[in-house]
Amino acid sequence: MDSRRRVPRTDLVLADPRLVATAGRLGRAVVKEAVAQAQRRVRQGEIAPEEVVDAAVAALPPYATRMRPVINMTGVLLHTNLGRAPLSPAAVAAAMAAAGSSDVEFDLATGARARRGRATLDALARAVPAAEDVHVVNNNAAALVLVATVLAAGREIVISRGELVEIGDGFRIPDLLVSTGARLCEVGTTNRTSYADYAAAVGPQTGFVLKVHPSNFRIEGFTGSVGVAALSDLGVPVVADIGSGLLAREPLLPEEPDAAGVLRAGADLVTASGDKLLGGPQAGLLLGRRDLVDRCRRHPLARALRVDKLTLAALEATLRGPATPVHEALHADPAALGERAGALAGRLAEAGIDARALPSEATVGGGGAPGVTLRSAAVSLPERFAVPLRTGEPPVVGRVEGGRLLLDLRTLPPGRDDDVVRAVLGADG
Ligand SMILES: *Cc1c(COP(=O)(O)O)cnc(C)c1O
Repeated sequence: MDSRRRVPRTDLVLADPRLVATAGRLGRAVVKEAVAQAQRRVRQGEIAPEEVVDAAVAALPPYATRMRPVINMTGVLLHTNLGRAPLSPAAVAAAMAAAGSSDVEFDLATGARARRGRATLDALARAVPAAEDVHVVNNNAAALVLVATVLAAGREIVISRGELVEIGDGFRIPDLLVSTGARLCEVGTTNRTSYADYAAAVGPQTGFVLKVHPSNFRIEGFTGSVGVAALSDLGVPVVADIGSGLLAREPLLPEEPDAAGVLRAGADLVTASGDKLLGGPQAGLLLGRRDLVDRCRRHPLARALRVDKLTLAALEATLRGPATPVHEALHADPAALGERAGALAGRLAEAGIDARALPSEATVGGGGAPGVTLRSAAVSLPERFAVPLRTGEPPVVGRVEGGRLLLDLRTLPPGRDDDVVRAVLGADG
């Protein structure tokens, strides 16, 4: 009889002990989906009816989420589409520890309610002594919305025309600010803004002056802008959105502002992302004058923007723990990357694959340091590897350049080289 007619019944397949165990771990819906897929393969004659359980087991996802861990070999350290900063193992472990019931807002000694996320806030305050106080919200966009609401709703934000930034995916900082009920008072021109422009614009309607770091573009040529230090005598708060979340100066990225430096220069408040160069979870950091941070924290909107316990735990571990993967990738030695690329290409070439090691240029990505390239090394493969590698397990994402697929070593965590060899060998068909 035609095997297509003998598709095993769903309830019988689901009763297999291996699938029962997985249903307990991942949920029945996930298992049923794998079984339905295996049954379809029987109907299409791809596998025999007896193979349905094995096929379903093989198709089971490792997690109850369809979001999949990816090996980032794009050479873009902070790849927005790949989740920006990869968390450190310490941050992952901390988030897992906090995932159940935790004392996020509870004092175990007294049994009373405690300040939410106090250990994280303490770690952030210690990391930036120049800040009188700190607060953490959902992301940098949330930090900006909160500051604009608290300091400028119904009033004006003075901002240079050269700093009206689109963050990405159609989201624009000016639109975000205006959505709070604040008005923008744009000063200067796209390429040049002077102190006199700011001074002429500041008045009784001014809520604050905002400096936005151009974190994803560069204007070159006949340009001029005013630093935070010069603006601090205007008699209104100066808020600096530094974007990347560097807390202290990073010698490799001299143009990238850092929270401590900007506060010392005279900013009243700094806002930043947690998942860019800081290398932590998605979060928005607010640092600066105690009275202003306190007003932000007490505003009703703060509740809508607050971070969850997983984020608080991961952020604390990022601040107190070992160097982050972003830091490691930024500081990787180009010669060592070249050696790894050479070894990888050699192993693949031995298997008969047209693989070569090449010098490459990595970038920080949308998270900061526009125009900066980092010397790196890549394994170059025929372009036909791009799709099978991307759709394999684990998915490996590189970049296609000049008809070749480049797998950049700078964004590959040390210790994953063998996984890449396996993935490429598996994609060779
Ligand atoms: C990335 C960025 C933002 C947005 O930060 P999110 O954490 O993604 O909300 C805002 N301002 C600047 C300057 C940025 O670089």
